[in-house]
Amino acid sequence: MDCLFCKIINREIPADIVYEDEHMLAFNDINPQAPTHMLIIPKRHIATLNDLEEADLALVGRLQYTAAKLAKEAGFAEEGYRVVMNCNEKGGQTVYHIHMHLMGGRRFTWPAG
Ligand code: C5P
Repeated sequence: MDCLFCKIINREIPADIVYEDEHMLAFNDINPQAPTHMLIIPKRHIATLNDLEEADLALVGRLQYTAAKLAKEAGFAEEGYRVVMNCNEKGGQTVYHIHMHLMGGRRFTWPAG
């Protein structure tokens, strides 16, 4: 499959992997927008949030849970952090394999740009 993140999962292209389990992979974003900026992705290819089905509810929970776990491990869970999922073109999605951005280590403003 011609998917950048599937290629990272399959070790066909390199990434700075920080976490892996049976269902999830996390790696540092190559263009960080915060002192810590990781991407958490499911190993199963799902193109966008719109492609989720009810059967994927546990997977989505696992994605969010993994973000919180990595935030705690990185040491910024208490002070606060930002998680973002972009969907489709106007939402700012550029890689069509769902991913959660986990950013920490600075103050975030609202509304997001
Ligand atoms: O939400 P969006 O689809 O725009 O996010 C894709 C993210 O994937 C970007 O933050 C980009 O820097 C990151 N990326 C990466 N490694 C790649 C290609 C893209 O970390 N090889």
